[in-house]
Amino acid sequence: MQNHPSAQEDGRQPLCRVPEVPARALASDVSEHRASLIRVTEKKWVNSTVLHFCFLDEPATIRGADDQKDAVRNAFSEWKQLGIGLVFTEVADPREAEIRIGFDWNDGSWSYVGRDNIDYATDPRERTMNFGWDLTTNYGHDTALHEIGHAIGFSHEHQNPKAGIQWNEQAVLAYFSGPPNSWPEEQIRHNILRKIQASESDGSDWDKNSIMHYQFPSGLITKPEEYQENPLIPDPGLSAADITEALRFYPSLTQVLPELRPWESHRIRIAAGQQLDFVIRPKFSREYTMQTFGNMDTVMVLFEEMNGENIFYAGDDDSGTSYNARITARLVRDRTYVLRVRLYFAQRAGEGALMLW
Ligand SMILES: [Zn+2]
Repeated sequence: MQNHPSAQEDGRQPLCRVPEVPARALASDVSEHRASLIRVTEKKWVNSTVLHFCFLDEPATIRGADDQKDAVRNAFSEWKQLGIGLVFTEVADPREAEIRIGFDWNDGSWSYVGRDNIDYATDPRERTMNFGWDLTTNYGHDTALHEIGHAIGFSHEHQNPKAGIQWNEQAVLAYFSGPPNSWPEEQIRHNILRKIQASESDGSDWDKNSIMHYQFPSGLITKPEEYQENPLIPDPGLSAADITEALRFYPSLTQVLPELRPWESHRIRIAAGQQLDFVIRPKFSREYTMQTFGNMDTVMVLFEEMNGENIFYAGDDDSGTSYNARITARLVRDRTYVLRVRLYFAQRAGEGALMLW
């Protein structure tokens, strides 16, 4: 049995820290409004994506005990049971996994955020998520939900600019540079003091019970004033707003998809962050092109349906550069493909169209 650190020995909880990644470069002519909508959506997965997770067993120092792995599996189920359209599948081979989980007890708990998992963690031996303390406690259960929240694209709620939190900077630096976190100043700034730009958050109101919110002892927050005297301790588990947000970005997918046929133009009428899905059943094997038209930023992903699962086939993400997404791919007769279009930005509703030829 592994001897893992307990989270609550002296009442000071260790907290999650997300790895720093560079901000995506947007073209210089991108307006502020357009940029803000791109930032809201850019780390989210296209809905219905199958996210494969695996537990890394090598090296032995990151191998988790069975009860710890089960705690993570249960947390994935809990998110899925909300009815979200994402699919979580455990695999044994790290090369097939977007989410690779380790249990290095000396490395704290952390995860990449959403699509950063595939953009910045490209080596299959590399962890994309780590757990640094016991997950079988109540606090550990929330930790597992929190890290999976990052993996599906949610950022820290206490950095929501709408939270309006004013920090006692000296107290924050002193507290988090001490055990059990012992973070360098840069990490404290990145994970706590830095406000996530209004343009990166989704503009929702502050939810201090979010699973994505840290708990803070009294004295670290100067405003709202009540936290000068009282600790801020989010309620355990997913909050009502967590559930609403998860279902807003990843609604359940039960409807029959419209078919996209060659040379038929489909009007795109969706709001920023929303998604349209189409099924393609080619009559001939040949190269096809699918493209959006109009002043819209979209990410477009093509899947092939195989044994009931949608396998990534091709993708195009032109957000922040030119306006239109375009995929050219060879499709095979009598196979089934699913094209998913997620809108970042449109100048006017109903301005865009999608076509296959
Ligand atoms: Zn976190």
